[in-house]
Amino acid sequence: MSSIILLCRPGFEKECAAEIASVAAQESLTGFPRTRENSGHVEFALDPSVDASLVVQNFDFRSLIFARQGFVSFVKVDNLPESDRIAPLIAAMSMLPEWDSYEPRISHLLIEAPDNTETEGLTAFLSSFAKPFERHLKDKMHIPAEKGSLRMHIFFLNYAEAHIGFSNVNLSSSRACGIPRLKFPKEAPSRSTLKLEEAFLVLLAAHERAQFLKSGSTAVDLGAAPGGWTWQLVKRSFLVTAIDNANMDTNLMNSGLVEHLRHDGFSYTPKKPVDWMVCDMVEQPIRIARLTAEWICESRCKHAIVNLKLPMKKRFDEVQRCLSVIRAASPDKDLIIRCKQLYHDRDEVTCFVSLEN
Ligand code: SAM
Repeated sequence: MSSIILLCRPGFEKECAAEIASVAAQESLTGFPRTRENSGHVEFALDPSVDASLVVQNFDFRSLIFARQGFVSFVKVDNLPESDRIAPLIAAMSMLPEWDSYEPRISHLLIEAPDNTETEGLTAFLSSFAKPFERHLKDKMHIPAEKGSLRMHIFFLNYAEAHIGFSNVNLSSSRACGIPRLKFPKEAPSRSTLKLEEAFLVLLAAHERAQFLKSGSTAVDLGAAPGGWTWQLVKRSFLVTAIDNANMDTNLMNSGLVEHLRHDGFSYTPKKPVDWMVCDMVEQPIRIARLTAEWICESRCKHAIVNLKLPMKKRFDEVQRCLSVIRAASPDKDLIIRCKQLYHDRDEVTCFVSLEN
């Protein structure tokens, strides 16, 4: 039986399951979610009446909020022996009814595992498994093909069990487990800087980054101190107005590109519209959503990236409530809204909102 596999932040399996159940219902995909707390993934078992190949072709895993990565599993291989895990995996692939049509279309391969404490040791194993496995696929099966639209996922649950699955290369993450490997820049004033860097990478397409992150752009950073997000903007030669009562990092201020105003982020409005508003204030998410809606509705900015800190309970419902507030800000304008729980987000999600496409 095939299933949709989603990789999420451990502890957020319930939210991830609620989301896939809701999206599946909208898309008439009959099935049911299976979750295990803190496992870092969710399995949505598809009813045998669902055409799994159509799901591979059309399902947009990137649009899910609580899943970093996703694919359709066609088979789970159990009892992989320590002595040779490659042969049983190859045998299981070759036995899939879809294999003959899929094999020439596999242009990308990802070897993945859930992000949980039980599988910590697996990461080292994955890289030692990857090399000989990739060599076998290349030499004996001509995978990856130069052209093709399929990504093959080998997803290890532990050393002895792995799912074999597929996704459309344009509709899933190109990064293993949907996690960008970012290095903390020593000069950045806070670790939060990685959240904005990841948001630019995951929530914007390459052409949007080139178009929307041009040097000389203007931005307002609400709740900016000590300056990790402002640092990302300054790195791209933006002119930034940083709003916060707390102190900003001195080196960042020495860049000459930052104006620091000790002002309340909820009442500050720029004299002239700016290209970007970013916001990382620790506040109720609905207040941040209303503030974002206000900025967009009054065209104070073209684009926004805002972080929503989630409550302890009903987190999926709360995110939906916030998104509908933002959506309602501009019913007659084309608004892009993308929202994701990023790898560097904890009990938070990050939204990109834009009036341009
Ligand atoms: N993004 C920052 C970085 O990368 O360094 C970290 C921001 S920190 C999580 C939240 C900040 O929001 C704090 O510095 C706090 O002073 C500020 N803040 C909270 N409420 C605010 C408000 N109403 N107006 C302005 N700043 C606020």
